[in-house]
This record gives sequence, structure tokens and C-alpha cells, in this order.
Amino acid sequence: MGAMNKGVKRILVTGGAGFLGSHLCDRLVADGHEVLCVDNLFTGSKSNLTGLLGRDRFEFMRHDVTIPLYVEVDEIYNLACPASPLQYSINPVQTTKTSVHGAINMLGLAKRTGAKILQASTSEVYGDPDVHPQPEEYWGHVNPIGPRACYDEGKRCAETLFFDYHREGSVRIKVARIFNTYGPRMDPADGRVVSNFIMQALAGQPITIYGDGQQTRSFCYVDDLVDGLVRLMDSGEAVTGPINIGNPGEFTILELAETILQLTGSRSPLVRKPLPMDDPRQRRPDIRRAQADLDWAPSVTLTEGLKRTIDYFAALAAAPEVRRIV
Ligand code: NAD
Ligand code: UDP
Ligand code: UDP
Repeated sequence: MGAMNKGVKRILVTGGAGFLGSHLCDRLVADGHEVLCVDNLFTGSKSNLTGLLGRDRFEFMRHDVTIPLYVEVDEIYNLACPASPLQYSINPVQTTKTSVHGAINMLGLAKRTGAKILQASTSEVYGDPDVHPQPEEYWGHVNPIGPRACYDEGKRCAETLFFDYHREGSVRIKVARIFNTYGPRMDPADGRVVSNFIMQALAGQPITIYGDGQQTRSFCYVDDLVDGLVRLMDSGEAVTGPINIGNPGEFTILELAETILQLTGSRSPLVRKPLPMDDPRQRRPDIRRAQADLDWAPSVTLTEGLKRTIDYFAALAAAPEVRRIV
């Protein structure tokens, strides 16, 4: 990594072998930058990087962000963290450590190198919100001791660390609060609603509705999300965030199921399962800040994004060994 070409940056992406991180690496390499992807492959996979491995401008390093890292970079996107309730509950302590120790190490790295650093925070910092839609000023409603707390509180603490390093150490920070995002390369086994429903519909298996299906989520297509993150990184120094990045289109889980059944032509029945503890009732981003500060708004509709995602999962179902290559 020794880029001296004008405009070419050395960029570290932690969690770069995951769903969002691999799309971000694709985008940054396509933009001409040198990308170092750091990932411990806990939930990610090298198969997400097949288009990048071997490219001159791309480097993969297997490393856990809870351990200090000494590299020379210009920008850091900190995405490392298991993101689905199923996966973060496998090892809740490691999840909190990844958010908190990972943030400390990456902020220490940013402080030493002078790199700009972006944190992938989450709408989960709002918990089960009693303000709707959620603006960035809302402080949230999180159960600090529940099963989702390892993720929610870890991410909240990471935001605290970002703003303290900014105030005390003059680190240039950007905090994105990402709302539910979907698209190709979601892990079909990580239990998230879009991947579960599509896999179930394609296999003709029952669609698992947790609770009454009246809870809502707002789903953002991955390309829109990545564009929002890059715009945030490239924004003026006064823009630190936190800033919501998500699609304000809000759907009940039942509506999502019906849309996926229609798009796949599946005749899968719906079955009810218990609602997980602390499952938020509603979620929708207020994106006025992103529109004003980043000139950003999502452009891919749910139907269009789902079609692309269904195509990906259909291809995966036809050749499952592709994703098993590690
Ligand atoms: P993902 O699980 O596909 O990606 C996370 C990546 O981080 C994986 O490749 C995993 O192996 C890696 N990782 C985990 N712990 C690590 C550690 N200790 N050291 C190094 N690497 C580690 O999830 P994703 O959906 O791509 O999410 C990426 C980021 O975006 C996460 O920080 C997540 O919290 C955030 N986010 C995602 C969503 C969403 O809807 N996808 C919503 C809000 C926030
Ligand atoms: N750190 C790192 N890479 C660096 C610089 C620091 O991983 O290039 C780690 C370092 O090991 C420390 C953490 O980041 O644990 C916080 O660094 P900081 O300089 O803020 O704190 P200190 O070293 O004074 O504890
Ligand atoms: N969900 C569901 N069936 C599933 C998986 C999830 O009804 O097979 C529900 C889940 O209870 C939640 C919503 O879909 O209300 C979104 O779940 P996901 O895990 O994708 O994201 P998060 O809860 O973190 O927003």
C-alpha cells in the first residue's frame, strides 16, 4: 500500500468480508482507491470478496479488531461487528468487545495516523422507539440488560467513544446510523427477515412471521446505503453525524412477506412464531439530515431491490457451494 497518485486514498475497511463491507470494498476499489480489508471472518466470508481477491489495489488481512492494529491509512470505515440478532446472541460478550474495544483500537489508529474514521452505527441505538419516525436528536429507548443489549449498548458506547476522541483528540469522525439494509450477499443463514423470507419462499417452505407481523421496518437497498456511507466520508469536516442512513419507506413484516410471495410466485404458507424479546415495534428513519448535509436519498424501491436480491438467492440455491468457499 503506497499510493501517492493524486486522489487515490489508502482506505481501511473493517468487517470488509461481510455483507455491507464487501459491497463497500467493491465501490472503493472501483473508485480507484487502495483498500485494506480487515476481517476475522466470524460472520463474513472470503467468498464475498471473489471479485476483489488478487486485484492490485485490494488486500485482505485476517485480524480481530479487538486486538490493536498498526497500519498506515488515510481513511477508516469501521464496520466490524456481527449484525443479526441470531449471530450477535451466539457470543454476546464478544459482540460488545468488538464494538467497544474495536472502536478504541480503530480510534487510536485514526489518532496516530490522522486518518478520518467512519463508524457503522445502527438504528438499534434508538431501541424500541417511542418517537416515530426517528430523528438523530432522539436519545432512544434501549433495554440495557436484555438479549439485544450486547449489540445496542455496544454500538451506543462506540458512538460515545467516537465523540470523546473527536472532542479530546481532534480525531475527524463520521457516525452513520444505518437502518435495516438488504441485498445480494446477505448471509442466507443469519436469520434476518429479508433473507429468511426469500429463502423460505424459494424453497416452498412456510414463511415464519414472528408475532402478529404488524411490527414495521424500513428497508434500504445495499447500493443506496453504500452510496450514503461514501458521501458521509467525503462530506465537509463539520459534518460528524450522527446521521441516519436508511430508506423511509415503512412496511409491516406481513406486507414484506406478501411482497416476497408475489415476486417469487411462491405458494408458501405463513406460520406464526413467537416474537423475540425486545423486538422493536416500529422503525423508520427521518432522513432530513442526510438530505441536507449529504444531498443523499435512497433511489431503489423495495420491489426493485427485492427482485435483485431474489435473483441472487435463486442463483445461490442453484449453486450453494459458491458461498462455502472460504
Ligand atoms: P456482516 O455480519 O455481514 O458483516 C460484519 C463483518 O464483521 C463480518 O465480515 C464479520 O466477520 C466481521 N467481524 C465481526 N467481528 C469482528 C472482529 N472482532 N474483528 C474483525 N472483523 C469482525 O454484517 P453487515 O450487515 O454487513 O453489517 C456491517 C456493519 O453495519 C455492522 O457494524 C453492523 O452493525 C452495521 N449495520 C448493519 C445493518 C444492516 O441492516 N445490515 C444495519 C445497521 C447497522
Ligand atoms: N492503537 C492501534 N493502532 C494504532 C494506534 C493505537 O490499534 O495505530 C490502539 C492502542 O493499542 C490502544 C488504542 O488503540 O489500545 C487506543 O489508543 P490511544 O492512543 O487512544 O490510547 P492509549 O494508547 O494511550 O491507551
Ligand atoms: N422476523 C420475522 N421472521 C423472520 C425473521 C425476522 O418475522 O423469519 C421479524 C423480526 O421479529 C423483526 C423483523 O422481522 O420484527 C426484522 O428482523 P431482523 O432480524 O431482520 O432485523 P432487526 O430486528 O434487527 O431490525
